[in-house]
Amino acid sequence: MIKEPFVTKEQVAEITKTWPTPFHLYDEKGIRRNAEALKKAFSWNKGYKEYFAVKATPNPFLIRILREYGCGYDCSSLTELMLSDAIGAEPGDIMFSSNDTPAEEFALADKLGAIINLDDITHIDFLEKTIGHIPETISCRYNPGGLFKISNDIMDNPGDAKYGMTTEQIFEAFKILKAKGAKEFGIHAFLASNTVTNDYYPMLAKVLFEVAVKLQKETGAHIKFINLSGGIGIPYKPDQEPNDIQVIGEGVRRVYEEVLVPAGMGDVAIYTELGRFMMGPYGCLVTTAIHEKHTHKEYIGVDACAANLMRPAMYGAYHHITVLGKENEPCSHMYDVTGSLCENNDKFAIDRMLPKIDMGDVLVIHDTGAHGFSMGYNYNGRLRSAEVLLKEDGSTQLIRRAETPSDYFATFDCFDIGKKLIAK
Ligand SMILES: *Cc1c(COP(=O)(O)O)cnc(C)c1O
Repeated sequence: MIKEPFVTKEQVAEITKTWPTPFHLYDEKGIRRNAEALKKAFSWNKGYKEYFAVKATPNPFLIRILREYGCGYDCSSLTELMLSDAIGAEPGDIMFSSNDTPAEEFALADKLGAIINLDDITHIDFLEKTIGHIPETISCRYNPGGLFKISNDIMDNPGDAKYGMTTEQIFEAFKILKAKGAKEFGIHAFLASNTVTNDYYPMLAKVLFEVAVKLQKETGAHIKFINLSGGIGIPYKPDQEPNDIQVIGEGVRRVYEEVLVPAGMGDVAIYTELGRFMMGPYGCLVTTAIHEKHTHKEYIGVDACAANLMRPAMYGAYHHITVLGKENEPCSHMYDVTGSLCENNDKFAIDRMLPKIDMGDVLVIHDTGAHGFSMGYNYNGRLRSAEVLLKEDGSTQLIRRAETPSDYFATFDCFDIGKKLIAK
């Protein structure tokens, strides 16, 4: 597959007249088409709902677009709850899938009518003490332990993950919650991340559906929904085959009809909490080459850095790079593409074959629409970039301005020098 940017050199030249690089650019058309496809893929399930994982792309403007397709919000922190509330979350629109949760966050989640997804059996008491009751609708996060495999491929290692309750604990939790007055139950599990296979969701569904049947039978708790959470990945690399969401939806339907329907559980709603799949491919980081350095290796220095996109530095993640206007030139040069942080891992690409890059060339770093901007940080006093939306009609809109030094210094407002810095 050839990975093509959703923006042309000419469009970027137009945008940079107003907003200088670096910035994250989002593709409204792509976001909308994908959200439609997801909705269609699960339309067989009456109660289906996607709760967008807010942490992936916490921009209210973008999340409001997803809302048009019926999406809710998956939150795990105070500010994510506040943001969802501001966009207009109604009771039931928020899934609060947090862990190691501070009391005030349970309190706000309850106040907003969020569905609370308990990460641990000890949170039952903690929640009850915090909000004074057990909600009528409640969910528990499940972790079966061991390795999660598809055929012989190890997808991930739930046994090593901090999340969720063991099998024994979730049965116990359901009994306790039911005795305390809970009426409707949900189960949630997130067992593998960034899966690029149509088999992950159906496999996960089978694990959860089978546990759900036993849970309902043994505890008498009515299971209202099963939350397949996130984990559907995207093809960061050009040689990866993208997931087919229609095939995935059908795969889940097959298991639903095989396991839940015969158990008399054909009323169970399927929920998802996708982040990466919803936004990843529909964002890119646009950056300009500002230095070339020829030492022991060939380096291209750009005006973005790991503070704008942490995944390569943090996980060694691959992000495809296109040099705008040179799409058809041969990839004849091997470069490390670097940012300016005083950290040697601040490299967007290592030993990457690219066309010859000249100073001033604009590079598009692909697939930054999820877990991109949002993982940013301020190391070296680097400032977070702007976010710009490329609209369906080709026009653009600023949806987050770039940070200024005053933003960076804002929390020094408790003493003199700080106040001076903020005023500058
Ligand atoms: C991060 C997260 C998601 C979204 O994960 P993606 O890999 O972006 O799909 C969903 N649910 C929970 C609880 C998460 O922590």
